Amino acid sequence: MTTDATPPVPPHKTFDTILVLDFGSQYTHLITRRLREFNVYSEMLPCTAKLADLDFTPKGIILSGGPYSVYEEGAPHVDHAVFDLGVPILGICYGLQEMAWHFGKNAGVAAGEKREYGHAHLSLQQHGGHVDELFKGLDSDIEVWMSHGDKLSHMPEHFVTVAQTPNSPYAGIAHSDKKMYGIQFHPEVTHTPQGKVLLRNFAVDICQSRTDWTMGKFVDQEIARIRSLVGDKGHVIGAVSGGVDSTVAAKLMKEAIGDRFHAVMVDNGVLRLNEAKQVKETLEKGLGINLTVVDASDLFLDRLAGIKDDPEKKRKVIGNTFIDIFQQKAKEIAAAAHNTPSAGEIEWLLQGTLYPDVIESLSFKGPSQTIKTHHNVGGLPADMNLKLIEPLRELFKDEVRALGVELGINEDLVWRHPFPGPGIAIRILGEVTREQVRIAREADHIFIEEIRAAGLYRNISQAFAALLPVKAVGVMGDKRVHDQVIALRAVETSDFMTADWYPFDGAFLKRVSRRIVNEVNGVCRVVYDITSKPPGTIEME
Ligand code: GLN
Repeated sequence: MTTDATPPVPPHKTFDTILVLDFGSQYTHLITRRLREFNVYSEMLPCTAKLADLDFTPKGIILSGGPYSVYEEGAPHVDHAVFDLGVPILGICYGLQEMAWHFGKNAGVAAGEKREYGHAHLSLQQHGGHVDELFKGLDSDIEVWMSHGDKLSHMPEHFVTVAQTPNSPYAGIAHSDKKMYGIQFHPEVTHTPQGKVLLRNFAVDICQSRTDWTMGKFVDQEIARIRSLVGDKGHVIGAVSGGVDSTVAAKLMKEAIGDRFHAVMVDNGVLRLNEAKQVKETLEKGLGINLTVVDASDLFLDRLAGIKDDPEKKRKVIGNTFIDIFQQKAKEIAAAAHNTPSAGEIEWLLQGTLYPDVIESLSFKGPSQTIKTHHNVGGLPADMNLKLIEPLRELFKDEVRALGVELGINEDLVWRHPFPGPGIAIRILGEVTREQVRIAREADHIFIEEIRAAGLYRNISQAFAALLPVKAVGVMGDKRVHDQVIALRAVETSDFMTADWYPFDGAFLKRVSRRIVNEVNGVCRVVYDITSKPPGTIEME
């Protein structure tokens, strides 16, 4: 079984921390993200967290939004000790309603007659003293973003109104003595243009948090943490894919424990063109990482043969084969490591888990389901007995990129588009054969090459060529052909939850189409996918 490691000095013990308690809003992680943007460290826990279980005292607490209604039976409620802790509290949307529900003795919140989604104009009311601090420096009339159906029907005792919209007379409230604030709108989304100022007012001025969370400090601290965790004899193994997360995690391990970190790259036969070679070059030569490349492409491709129209089956075959190979390699590396003077059994597995994955595992989903086990590399078998080490588990994707830059990883790699674990197998709709892999790879390579040449790579979040399982008629050199169809897909997104297709100009698409049809044997047509997510997904399978 993989077990999670308890860090010796977690960041919340070193940095002033704002604790965000999550009631299940889609935007909770953005609150944490925004605070870190102005160098205040923040962590998120499920709203059911018990204060007595914390090993630190936060500088302030934010109660997030959520899909429930406080007055419903079974609605989540925060540990009441939160209100007696004596640190400032900010309730956002459901969080505001939760505060009002608590101080209003389970009354004062009801279903509103009018739901309020989208933009609203907020006007502020000044009272003097700490009550005004939340909106300090903001215009008296600001645009905010709303997403609620319930509203406060009356004010709990000791609170005053500090902001209102035409639809919400209590859109902002503050306790007259204590530093407690509630707002009905969402300051964490970009649609509330001055939201960040408000969050800063709360964290820095009201909670008096230091603004000293920086990537440089994170690196030093993380290296020290890894060293004390692993000891001076321990070995760590980890899979690398050439993607930004695994590369950054591997580089951090290299800095911390040198060659006692063993990176394994499995060539599954469905990587991008020249990818295995490139990854080897970058990681081994460029970053000095102790890397073993296993070419298992034949095994993967043999096992994929015959799977025609069940994408899930493809994913499973690839996942299971990966585990077989990785496990085998881990045994060999452990045996070799055992014979060296600094030997020890390999007892640690590196994983590039990011904060959004952790959040997903921790989120409030119902009283009996607070914590799910973390995803690991396709579920490694119990008898591997590895302990997890997750140096990126407190970071968001763009923070991982900043960390990559800090560690001297080159920009091209740091800004690489995400690539799925099952590789281009799920971009080949239909059966994955060596010939189909060739076609999909070559077409993809041309598309990405042109995107880079046009200077568009960073404007696009993810782009690839997919091979459709149909044939079309074409005419090439006066000859009738009956060949395959490539579908290009390129999307823009900030969080990969929703995405829109990229509006290339016609000349660009013409160029890509002409090159693919001319240069890739077996393709006679190119189409561009103009489906957003939802209803589409980013990948096609
Ligand atoms: N469910 C509550 C409402 O509709 C809170 C919504 C929210 O937090 N976004 O008012």
